Amino acid sequence: MTDAADPHFKRVALIGLGLIGGSLGHAMRRGKLAGHIAGYARSDATRKRAMEIGFVDSVHSSAADAVKDADLVILCTPVGSVGEVAAEIEPVLKKGAILTDVGSVKVAIFRDVGPHVPDGVHFIPGHPIAGTEESGPDAGFAELFDDRWCILTPLPGVDRDAVARLTAFWEACGSRVDFMEPKHHDLVLAITSHLPHLIAYNIVGTADDMETVTRSEVIKYSAGGFRDFTRLAASDPTMWRDVCLSNKDAILEMLGRFSEDLAALQRLIRWGDGDGLFELFTRTRAIRRSIIDAGQENPAPNFGRNPTHAADDKKDQ
Ligand code: NAP
Repeated sequence: MTDAADPHFKRVALIGLGLIGGSLGHAMRRGKLAGHIAGYARSDATRKRAMEIGFVDSVHSSAADAVKDADLVILCTPVGSVGEVAAEIEPVLKKGAILTDVGSVKVAIFRDVGPHVPDGVHFIPGHPIAGTEESGPDAGFAELFDDRWCILTPLPGVDRDAVARLTAFWEACGSRVDFMEPKHHDLVLAITSHLPHLIAYNIVGTADDMETVTRSEVIKYSAGGFRDFTRLAASDPTMWRDVCLSNKDAILEMLGRFSEDLAALQRLIRWGDGDGLFELFTRTRAIRRSIIDAGQENPAPNFGRNPTHAADDKKDQ
């Protein structure tokens, strides 16, 4: 289905010009995927910076202006803001255009954007499973999506040609494309992305609140493991507030399971159950091997960090 589809669009509107919008702009430039890229951001500073960097051809101070005449519209603002943006662009969305997004949750996107999609516009929500802890227009880069999955969640009955074109577009941006039902997407991402971020926010917050261990000790000895959590815990607060509020049920379900498993681990330690601990740690080690084998992680030890420092890190553990 995707072989014949054209990944090129005459006019693309990028609504939101931060890490993901910027990276899409760069990836489109790299693959020559757009005749014209029109960008919208809230602030004058972001719009100006996007033009300076050059990943858009024009910037607009209203989302509706950017969307006029676009064949592909990609919503790249935080999940909590897309409903309002969709209401603004509704009157100018072109018949036959594809409307998509990059939000980290999908049920809430259908709820908030769905009612604003005019007849004749193909609404195909999406989520690239790629990111960093950086935000803003300077954070974007063309390779962000290379070999990373992009999950599309079209509802049954959506135009097949439009789905094929959007698939071809993401593939041309470097991604591999998969399809999921929106509710299932939110459950899968709750365990693979949302829960790990919440655990990281929590552990870093706990360390920051400690009184008997000083903040300078936490930082000095962070190579013992703590610093690997700090990368996730440095992620954008607006984005993660919105993810928590809009994927509440799935996140609470996963947090419940996590708490039960943590209590079980606590019991293994209290009872001195070395075999139980060893069995769990062996099982979890195999998961990392599977992720590396699937090409979703750098196989170099210590996340590919400088080997000299890696030796130091081992000493610290
Ligand atoms: P970002 O770097 O913070 O950029 C957000 C952009 O949206 C900026 O251009 C910002 O404009 C604009 N914006 C923010 N709040 C807005 C509002 N209330 N109304 C209108 N525009 C607003 O964010 P990002 O990391 O690219 O994330 C964007 C989307 O991608 C989110 O939905 C997120 O769930 C999803 N996503 C993120 C990642 C990740 O790792 N970061 C990965 C996959 C998917 P100003 O700069 O002018 O404020």
